[in-house]
Amino acid sequence: MLRSLPVLIALAVPATALAQQSAPVSDLQYQLTFTAATAQRRSLTVTTRFQVGGDGTVLLSLPSWTPGAYEVSNFARQVSNFSATQNGEPIAWAKADPDTWRLKPAGRGEVTLTFDFLADQLDNAKAWSKPDFLLVNGTNIFLYPEGRSLDFPARVTVATEPTWQVATGMAPGTASRTYRAGNYHDLVDMPFFIGRFDLDSAQVEGKWVRLASYPTGALAGSQRTAFWGDLKRYLPQTIAVFGVAPYENYTNLLIFEPEFGGGSALEHQNSHVGVYTPLLIGSPVLPSITAHEILHLWNVKRLRPADMVPYAYDHWMPTPWLWVSEGITDYYADVALVRAGVIDSTDFLALTAGKMQEVADVPAVSLDDASIDAWIGMTDGTGSIYYPKGSLAGMLLDIRIRAATGNQKSLDDVMRSLYRSTYEKGKGFTPKDWWDAVSAAAGGVSFTEFNARYIGGREPYPYAADFALAGLTAVVDSNRVARVGIQTSADSATRVLAATPDGAFASAGGLAGDELVRVGPLDASSPSWAEQFRAKYGSAAEGTIIPVTVRRDGQLVALQMPLRFVIIRSYRLVPDPNASAAAVRVRRGIMTGKAG
Ligand SMILES: [Zn+2]
Repeated sequence: MLRSLPVLIALAVPATALAQQSAPVSDLQYQLTFTAATAQRRSLTVTTRFQVGGDGTVLLSLPSWTPGAYEVSNFARQVSNFSATQNGEPIAWAKADPDTWRLKPAGRGEVTLTFDFLADQLDNAKAWSKPDFLLVNGTNIFLYPEGRSLDFPARVTVATEPTWQVATGMAPGTASRTYRAGNYHDLVDMPFFIGRFDLDSAQVEGKWVRLASYPTGALAGSQRTAFWGDLKRYLPQTIAVFGVAPYENYTNLLIFEPEFGGGSALEHQNSHVGVYTPLLIGSPVLPSITAHEILHLWNVKRLRPADMVPYAYDHWMPTPWLWVSEGITDYYADVALVRAGVIDSTDFLALTAGKMQEVADVPAVSLDDASIDAWIGMTDGTGSIYYPKGSLAGMLLDIRIRAATGNQKSLDDVMRSLYRSTYEKGKGFTPKDWWDAVSAAAGGVSFTEFNARYIGGREPYPYAADFALAGLTAVVDSNRVARVGIQTSADSATRVLAATPDGAFASAGGLAGDELVRVGPLDASSPSWAEQFRAKYGSAAEGTIIPVTVRRDGQLVALQMPLRFVIIRSYRLVPDPNASAAAVRVRRGIMTGKAG
């Protein structure tokens, strides 16, 4: 998953994991009905049919989360009008827990369940509808028997308007608009677009890639051509890292919605869902997020920490390895783009410096803790820090391996060897698997200390020493900036939402809730007053008294505010003109993917 801009953080609550087992069920078939009529209610109707062998109690559940989106969502909250029948007669049912239904069949035979699912959540892990369109994820709607093997085949039928389209990574069945999956994990890993949307396809490296985008016309003309042009360049670079393209075909499912702030995407085994503001069309964010999701085809969808194999759907699955699953995925997205020429080396170094900045701007936290705490949704700025910090850890490992082997080996070798020794052997990777592979690639060098200090520990990264091995220099620019020390709301630059404790405004007696009227000679109603403030007082003496007028409870209040400064550090990463030949080889190796 990747979120480019701040989004709402859901409170993660672990689902009740009760030790329960359903009576056996077989021959599961699902039908999704989404038409102009159901779209009017912003819902789809889901019918589930299955066979039971007797009158034993059946327990059917919906997942509490979607793999890749590390938050508990309890999709069952969107269900209404649930009914159960057998031979046309209603059968008794009740909720057993927040996402489980308990049924009592009358005896052997087919049982039919029907419910409506409210599709009003614009989120790549959820369901969202418009009058002519539906996004729905399998985790939202496909019931499974509680406590039973998930290794059961399933069939899906889509009922929709004759002129509407269906796009999904699911394999087509024999009849029109039917699909099949070999097991439940595959079934819930292939989201659907149903309705009116743009759809085209192209062959890349001998396999079909589809591009479905909603609404029609949003990603069109030269911008669609550019999307395809970029993808055809970076997709081969992602395949080159692992040496295998592990999918039959690949489907990009993209939504461009003005009400959505930023961009966010979620990976699947042969597709991904991206949700973006249309403002990001044509920006470098779109290929960057798309490359990240495509890298997940290997890293996390297949090469996965052992503590998430197999996925369980009824409870959260915290892991200390998201810095690899997300952070190193993000490193390889940048690497693939620079190797493909979609971005140049200067862009690559700017992206890396941006990640250094993100890490510097939040409290120090270990990557292990940041990863395992993802489900808590930390609000101190570290909630997603395993992306940039994990990406940087990946780059430092890459540099150390290349430097230790004269650029003969790299992190690429780690990823490729683990893919073969764990995923292709039907298992997840353990901590020992990971560090043994890193050490082997580096010719036997131990990474025990690196792990203790920079992954399990919170020590600052050794940027100077490590980047020097790649002919790079990290430059920190320090700027002294005049700061009032307040937060204002997005729609008003004068209403003080919060005053920083010990900041200039607070120390002058300013309070949250005050309305700024004048700051020195500046009229606070000017949209650019803060900018003017920094310019006017940037070189004045610390402690200079500035008269400030605020409106408080309808009265004008005069404050005497002492001038305060903060030091803003900004990072740059630049090539070292005096780098050794060996260091230049490491730098070139990262950017080109070539050894030696
Ligand atoms: Zn991701």
